[in-house]
This record gives sequence, C-alpha cells and structure tokens, in this order.
Amino acid sequence: LRGRKLVAHIIPFENRRQILVTHDATESERIDKMRRDFIANASHELRTPLTVINGFLEIAAQPNLDPATRQAHIKLMSEQGQRMQNLVEDMLTLSRLESADLPLHAERVDIKALLEQIHREANVLSGGRHVISLTVTGPDIKGNVEELRSAFTNLVTNAIRYTPASGKIDLVWAETEEGPQFSVRDSGIGISPEHLARLTERFYRVDKSRSRETQGTGLGLAIVKHTLLRHNATLAIESIAEEGSVFIAKFQKNSIYYENGRLPEHKG
Ligand code: ADP
Repeated sequence: LRGRKLVAHIIPFENRRQILVTHDATESERIDKMRRDFIANASHELRTPLTVINGFLEIAAQPNLDPATRQAHIKLMSEQGQRMQNLVEDMLTLSRLESADLPLHAERVDIKALLEQIHREANVLSGGRHVISLTVTGPDIKGNVEELRSAFTNLVTNAIRYTPASGKIDLVWAETEEGPQFSVRDSGIGISPEHLARLTERFYRVDKSRSRETQGTGLGLAIVKHTLLRHNATLAIESIAEEGSVFIAKFQKNSIYYENGRLPEHKG
C-alpha cells in the first residue's frame, strides 16, 4: 500500500457500535487532478488565440488604417480563429471517445482503400517535401472506419510535421504473430527518452512553439490512444532523437475480419 492514500469513514451502526469503512482514494484523486489540469490547460490554450484576436480587432477597427495592414491583420486573426476551431474540434472528439456509453460501431474496414486515401492526402499535405511510401500486406479488420481514419491521419500528419524536408516516411500495414499492425516510420527530429512515456497525455508537447507553428493542438496522440483502446489495440512508440520515430498501432488477432470463417476476397 506504499504510496497509496486510504480514506477511512467511521459509520455509526446499531447499538452504538461503529463500522470502519476504508477506500483507496489514490485513483479518484488522480482522476480529479487530471480533470483540473485538463480544464486549466484547455482554458490557457484557448485564451492565447483569443487574446491575439481581440488585440488585432482593436487595431483593425481603426478607421484610417491602410487596406494592406488591415488585410494582414485579418489574415492573422483568421489563423488564430482556425487554431481555436482545431482545438475545440479535438476536445469534442476526445470527450466523445471517452464517454463510456458510446458503443463502438464496428464493421469491415477496407484497409487498403483507407490507407491509399490517407497516403494521397499525406502527399498533398507534404507538398512533395517528403518521400512517402505505402505498403499494405495485412488483412482487413473490424472497426470504425471514421475513428480509425482520424487516428491514422493523426499519426501520419505528425510524421510530416516533425520530419524536415526531403525526409522519408514509410506507412506499413502488415500481419504479425500478435496481430495486424499499422506502423508509421519517419526520419524526422525524433523524441528523446524522457518525453516518450508522456507523449499521449493531453496537451503534452516536446516543443510547444513548434507544435503551434504546425497547427498542432497537443491532443492528437491522446485521440489516437483512446481510439485504439476502443479497438482493443495499443500504441507503441520507438524513437531516437535526431534520427526518427516509429509509431505502431497494434491490433489483436481477433480484430481480423473474416467472412464465413475465411479471409474475404479483396474488393479490388
Ligand atoms: P501535436 O498537435 O502537438 O502534434 P500530438 O498529441 O499529436 O500533438 O503529439 C504530441 C507531441 O509529440 C508533439 O507536440 C511532438 O512534440 C511529439 N511528436 C508526435 N509525433 C512525433 C513525431 N513523429 N516525431 C517527433 N515528435 C513527435
């Protein structure tokens, strides 16, 4: 029990006898602290763009401002507006994923079609600055395609964000002994060991300013982790600072999609 906090309640019972009830408060206190931290972080993250917008509004409202300056201020305000929009969307996604009463709507996920689309979008986002490959050899799985699309896209977007130009990114869907896996390997900036374990915490960022520059909300990996949890899958992260990282979504064998006991023909 070392390190745990027990709370005892003495409850009056028949004939003035009392019973002592103890419960472990460590877990509920931890959850309470997480909730407080989340509200504090979220408010802070929203306040920054709001402050910028309010400041620029004041300037943009001046009647004698030249049109070019006004235009520049409007552009900056719209960037901050977009940042707030991303944040609120990610917060809503996370809260939806976490609500325990939301059942997973699982059906066949055409992995090849899904990853080919993500691969195309990745090339657009990268704008030709990276070499991005895709290899699909593993089977289809049962899952929620929209949730998986958003989780996989998050991993791929991060690989692009945190890999300098002319870097390499490999997307691989393969079957392993333990089950199907999606791995995203990049030759990017990497992550040093002291940060690795905390990456999936909400708003945890190795470098806040870099993440902001690239429109990151700091919630992406938390969303990935929760989506995978709902699919009985886990996220493994391996990284070497300044060499690159690999993020692996590991699914279980029983997630594989079978039709009448066998792997289905591919839709082609
Ligand atoms: P963000 O929106 O800031 O990217 P995420 O939750 O997606 O938030 O990621 C959290 C942090 O993990 C990022 O801010 C970044 O520091 C680090 N990170 C994520 N993916 C990578 C990657 N492929 N290479 C290096 N660092 C990464």
